[in-house]
Amino acid sequence: MTKVLYPGSFDPMTKGHMNIVEQASQLFDEVIIAVLQNPLKGPGFFTLEERMEIIQELIHRMNNVKVISGNGAAVDLAILHECNAIIRGLRGISNFDEEIGLLQWNREQSNHQVNTVFFYAEPEYQYVSSSVVRETFRLDKDISQYVEPIVETQMIRKRRLVK
Ligand code: ADP
Repeated sequence: MTKVLYPGSFDPMTKGHMNIVEQASQLFDEVIIAVLQNPLKGPGFFTLEERMEIIQELIHRMNNVKVISGNGAAVDLAILHECNAIIRGLRGISNFDEEIGLLQWNREQSNHQVNTVFFYAEPEYQYVSSSVVRETFRLDKDISQYVEPIVETQMIRKRRLVK
């Protein structure tokens, strides 16, 4: 059985992320989305729990996809959940070198048990990122091309709560 872990901040989950999940779910038996707190990115827009709830709704029709959250290294979660590989999405080639370094590190840290597989989103979602979504939303501009309606609704709800 092929099981893969797709780690990220997903703050929030974009159509780019969803496109990667859809591609992976067609290739592998099981896809586990791991929502991780990235200390370098600060507290974020949504809490980890909120991000997980949103993702849960987005994937409820995909029966080989599930979502978990965690602290620490993605490779440790991959080992814990017996995943054969970690999925990374690529945007252009700008982060390629860094990703190869991470691939090597994940191999070393897992005793060569956990490999890394790279995906490209469909062209229309290629350059969508969570930070673009947050910034576009902050400027009160339309984000519907970047995220599913559930995400937009939750962002509006969260903004009302925070205000
Ligand atoms: P962000 O979207 O802010 O870069 P994440 O940590 O949530 O950050 O991303 C999780 C993973 O999804 C990373 O491997 C990232 O490169 C990938 N990813 C995000 N958006 C896209 C996209 N539009 N196309 C391809 N990969 C993507």
